[in-house]
Amino acid sequence: MPKILILYTGGTIGMLPSAQGYVPAAGFAQRLAERLGHQAASDLPTWDLIERERLIDSADLQPADWLGIAQELVRHWEAYDGFVVLHGTDTLAYTASALSFMLRGLDKPVILTGAQIPLCELRNDALDNLLTSLMIAGHYPVPEVCVCFHGQLLRGNRTVKRDSMALAAFASPNFPPLGEIGIQVRLREALLLAPGTPDFQLPTFDPEAVTLLPVYPGLSVRVLEALLDSDAVRALLLLSYGAGNPPAGHQALMQRLERASADGIVVVNLTQCLQGRVQQGAYATGAALNRIGVVPGADLTREAAFAKLHCLLGAGFGPVQVREQLPQPWCGECT
Ligand code: ASP
Repeated sequence: MPKILILYTGGTIGMLPSAQGYVPAAGFAQRLAERLGHQAASDLPTWDLIERERLIDSADLQPADWLGIAQELVRHWEAYDGFVVLHGTDTLAYTASALSFMLRGLDKPVILTGAQIPLCELRNDALDNLLTSLMIAGHYPVPEVCVCFHGQLLRGNRTVKRDSMALAAFASPNFPPLGEIGIQVRLREALLLAPGTPDFQLPTFDPEAVTLLPVYPGLSVRVLEALLDSDAVRALLLLSYGAGNPPAGHQALMQRLERASADGIVVVNLTQCLQGRVQQGAYATGAALNRIGVVPGADLTREAAFAKLHCLLGAGFGPVQVREQLPQPWCGECT
């Protein structure tokens, strides 16, 4: 019988109501046992559950939490056949991306899930998401970091939270789902990564190293200046329009970006669109970025690009290597 480790980090799935709204709460294993009662579940693997010491609403997530979660998984790697990480949905896509870059060459499933309605409510999506994730982690050959949510199995580093209210909270806009889980489980095996040999890289993160700037009509160079004011910033994700177009006619802005790039700050161009990729140079506005050393971020999600920059910088890479590695697919995160 396969054995799975469930790591509970917080999030709606295990929250309880309070006067201020839902809050993270310890004692998830007990609440789950009460909910399951004595029901036999022959198609489920056996599991152990551990809770992180600091349970959080994932809106409070810091890059250091990625390291804590990864360390917990690595500590128990040999003892289990697969892992389920219970996480708040707000930043689940960031954590899924970061784990995929830290747990390179993994040979077992790591499934992240959560819920839009907590387990403590009679009507909830927590139980279904958890049991489905357990089943996938225990019985299916998925050597990847995945998100399993509302009947879909998605590649973790392709996932985004797309809906704050629907139970189908996640999407994988630039890559097909790895599986659909209805009455039957339909895995798209041809899309899965091949099992590797664990080559785990657990960097130390500097929370201020990566910053983000969405372009918008009227964006002033003062906003960029303020963002780059800290010596700690080593990478800037520029969220441009459409196929990767910035307001190239804004000379002061472009000159400041060029200077940042020349100073060794890695500037990466992603699209604000929900789907599609950057084609830096399809338009003259975008081509301007090619001339000033901005890296086109291909079809990476914002979450994956953000986490990958943190992982590269945290591993000690310099700007030249970061610029080179960012658009190279490591584990299916970009095309
Ligand atoms: N704020 C919650 C969290 O991310 C939302 C959720 O889990 O659905 O922890």
